[in-house]
Amino acid sequence: MTLHARALVTLLVLFVCFAASAQQAPPSSNAANEMPSVTTVPPAAQPSPNFNVDAATEAYLAQIPASARARSDAYFEGGYWLILWDFLYGAAISLVLLNLRWSAAMRNLAERITRYKPLQTLIYWAEYSVAVFILGAPLAIYEGYTRERAYGLATQTFGPWAWDQTKGLMINIVLGGLLVMALFGIVRRLPRTWWLWGSIVSMAFLIVTVLIDPVYLQPIFNKIAPLNDPKITQPILSLARANAIPARDVYQIDASKQTTRMSANVSGFGQTMRITMNDNLLRRGSPEEIQAVMGHEMGHYVLNHVYKALLLFFPIIIFAGFGLLKWSLDWSLKRWGEKWQICGIGDIAIVPLVVLILSIFGFVMTPVFNTQTRTQEREADMYGLNASRQPDGVAQGAIHLGEYRKMRPGPVEEFIFYDHPSGYSRIHRAMQWKAENLQLFEGRPSQESATAGSGQH
Ligand SMILES: [Zn+2]
Repeated sequence: MTLHARALVTLLVLFVCFAASAQQAPPSSNAANEMPSVTTVPPAAQPSPNFNVDAATEAYLAQIPASARARSDAYFEGGYWLILWDFLYGAAISLVLLNLRWSAAMRNLAERITRYKPLQTLIYWAEYSVAVFILGAPLAIYEGYTRERAYGLATQTFGPWAWDQTKGLMINIVLGGLLVMALFGIVRRLPRTWWLWGSIVSMAFLIVTVLIDPVYLQPIFNKIAPLNDPKITQPILSLARANAIPARDVYQIDASKQTTRMSANVSGFGQTMRITMNDNLLRRGSPEEIQAVMGHEMGHYVLNHVYKALLLFFPIIIFAGFGLLKWSLDWSLKRWGEKWQICGIGDIAIVPLVVLILSIFGFVMTPVFNTQTRTQEREADMYGLNASRQPDGVAQGAIHLGEYRKMRPGPVEEFIFYDHPSGYSRIHRAMQWKAENLQLFEGRPSQESATAGSGQH
C-alpha cells in the first residue's frame, strides 16, 4: 500500500503542477468575436430572378474572415486527434490499473471495509472513479480547460471549471454506482445470461437518466428558467402551436457561465421533454436566427428523435456492446486473469477491463455514432427550414456555429467526424430551399436592415 500511496501523492503533485500551469494560460483572446456578430444577407443571397444557390452560399461563406476560419479549422481538426488521444490515454489508464494490480488492491480494500457485496461494489466504484479522475486529469485539463481558453471558447477560470468537474465526478460515483451494483448483482446471480439482462437494465438506466437530466442533473451545473421575454417567446410559441407542439414555456440556460458557444437543445423524455435555448444564442442571435434554431429543435421534437435514439438505436448498440463483452471478457481472463488477480467476471476488479473493451468498441464505432446523430440533425434542419421559413437565419446560425466547427470539410471527413452537417452543407441546403421559395421573400423588407437594426446582436 505504501507504494500505491506514494504513487498517488506523485500524481496529486503532477495534478497540482498541471493545474497551476493551466491557470497561467493566456487569457482568452477574442477569437469568438472574430466571426461576424451581425450576419447580414449578402447581395448574392438577396431574392432576385437570377438567384443562384452556389453564389449565395459562397457569398455567405465569404463573410467569415480568413483568420477566424483558420482558427476554427485548427480547433476542430485538433478535435479529430483528441478522439485518438482520449482513446489511447484511457486505454493506458486501464492497463496501468490492471497490470500494476491497483484494481485488485482497490477491491481488497473494499473487501476489508465491508463483507456486504453490493457495498463492496459501491466502494470499489468510488475508488475506481477517483483514480481515473486523477490519472485522467492532465489530458482532461488540457482538453477541457487550457485548449478551450486558448481558443477563446471558455469563460471559466480554473477554480470554477475544476469544481464543475468535481461535481461531475460525484454524479458519476452516485449514478454509476447504482448501475454497477445492479450489473454485478446480475452477473453473480445469472452467470450465463447476464449479458442479456445487463443490456436490459442498462437500457432502463439510460432512459431514466435522460428523463431526470433536465430537471435534476442540468441544474447542478447551470441555472435554467422559463424565458419570459414575450418579444422572443411569442414567435417561438406561435411556431410551436403551428406545429402541434404542446409547449407552454421555452427555457433558457446560463451557458455563458462556461462557454461562448451558441446552442439550443431538446432534452428530457415524456413529461420532462423541453426546448432550451442558451443565453449566448439569445444575446447574439438575430430574430431570424433564433427562429431558425427553434424550428430545428422543434424538428427533433416532432420527428421523435429522442424516442428513436432511445428505443431503436441505443438498444442495438447496447446489445452489441454486451455481446462483445461476454465474448472478450472470458477470452482476456483466460490469458491474463491470474496476472491481474481477477477471479472471474463477477469480480469487481474487472471494471478497468470492461471499460477498456467498451472504449475500443466506442472508438471503432465513432463514425456510426456520428452518422446516426448527423442523420437526425439533417432531418431536423429540413423540418426547421419548412417550419420557420428562415433560410437566412439558418445561414447566420451556421456561421455562428462555425466559431467552433470547421465550415467546409471533405465528404469523407464529414462522414467520419461530423455529428452535425457542416456549415457549408447547412448554408447550401438553406439557399436551395430559398431558391425554391423565392416568392416568400419578394416584397418583404430586406432582412439586412431588419437584422442590422436590432443593434445588440
Ligand atoms: Zn439538432
